[in-house]
Amino acid sequence: MINKLSFTSTLCRSQELFIPYNDRNIHMYVCGVTPYDDAHIGHGRCYVTFDVVYRLLRSQGYQVKYIRNITDIDDKLLNRARDQYGDQFRYNDVATYYAKRFQEDVIRLGCISPSFEPRVTDHIPEIITAVEQLVDSGHAYVANGSVYYRVSSYASYGALSHQNIGDLRAGARVECNDEKEDPLDFALWKAEPEGEFWQTKWGWGRPGWHIECSVLAHTYGGAHLDLHGGGMDLMFPHHENERAQSEALYGAPFVKIWMHNAFVRVQQEKMSKSLGNFVTLRQAFERCEPEVLRYYYLIHHYRKPLDFSWDDIAGARKSYQRLIALCGVGAVAATQEIVQIDDYLENLQPAEREFIHRMIANLYDDVNVQGMCGFIFEHADAIRAHPVLQQTVKMLLHSILGLSLQPLPEKTVAMTPEIQQLLDERTEARKQRDWKRSDELRAQLEALGVAVRDGKV
Ligand SMILES: [Zn+2]
Repeated sequence: MINKLSFTSTLCRSQELFIPYNDRNIHMYVCGVTPYDDAHIGHGRCYVTFDVVYRLLRSQGYQVKYIRNITDIDDKLLNRARDQYGDQFRYNDVATYYAKRFQEDVIRLGCISPSFEPRVTDHIPEIITAVEQLVDSGHAYVANGSVYYRVSSYASYGALSHQNIGDLRAGARVECNDEKEDPLDFALWKAEPEGEFWQTKWGWGRPGWHIECSVLAHTYGGAHLDLHGGGMDLMFPHHENERAQSEALYGAPFVKIWMHNAFVRVQQEKMSKSLGNFVTLRQAFERCEPEVLRYYYLIHHYRKPLDFSWDDIAGARKSYQRLIALCGVGAVAATQEIVQIDDYLENLQPAEREFIHRMIANLYDDVNVQGMCGFIFEHADAIRAHPVLQQTVKMLLHSILGLSLQPLPEKTVAMTPEIQQLLDERTEARKQRDWKRSDELRAQLEALGVAVRDGKV
């Protein structure tokens, strides 16, 4: 029962039936983090999304090589090392520290570790070889010890992000960089003073950002990937550049299906390090269980922007508790291993099988988790009344969505001056019969984990 999954392809801008290159062996690449600080809840959305894609593919019997890089050399890391240690060459210490914290965070979110998690600085010789090949083939040129990709040498540039090359050129920042032949050209290699970083035949330096993903994808996944994922913000220029490099190096097409998850926003603005409006995963875990955050991500379709709020997290927690209650008590029968759906369904009666097919069809349809959860809530009575269905639903949610479905601990909230002040304000608002203000304060208190029960005023 293969070839029933479909995903939205960014390149084609349509939903495509998933047909892998090599029958049952899948190569999937997702861009990793630059670990110079803790990961935020925008990162969490990306890695939870692709964790479910990974689980879903494996549930279909595919063998999946999942590759996620670690960018351990970059301007941000050098700056952080300079700030923290007074020595930019300690960038590796910064990267090691934050990469470990990132891995802990995504494991707490229930993500399975990738098959490979290569670090860029462990692959510098391969990167230098790739840059040399691009120079030799005319796709790149050396200028003052740096190497740039010649965008005009690649006819399909702009296709992934659906941008016209003329518009891109007109919109390109005017930089004080007359080394480049064209403002769209991008650095494959950045020149550094003699003796610093790595030596090449065109001088000392370090890799530009984009080349690492082309080289690591090729090293661990071969010339062609079945799926390439990442956040929407990576589509341009990062993925456009990756595609240009890889297709010039290893032939087209680099990727069968490009998948991008949408942003997490705060008050209509994208959450990002640079805007300073982010919440780190660790901060979020202080206020909600990691599993609730995972569920919150999943019930919002990955292609739609997610407007983050603590009120919505509180709502998701309630919804998740309903789902847990619906699935019944007791441990899930499945182990950590991903269940093979078709094998499992063979043991069911035809009517049960039909029911589960209808439920799971939502996931096959571009990972429509909220559609699947909607189906489950809609048929809650039938599921509760039927122990085999109940156990099957629970096992599939556990295995493919990565939810434990174990009861959440009762929240005990320590009284803080902030909470006391909100309670006092609310008492006052109710005395004044200011119900609007009272409701606002209730929402704020609930977001802090305080349930408010009112008697008569
Ligand atoms: Zn990348």
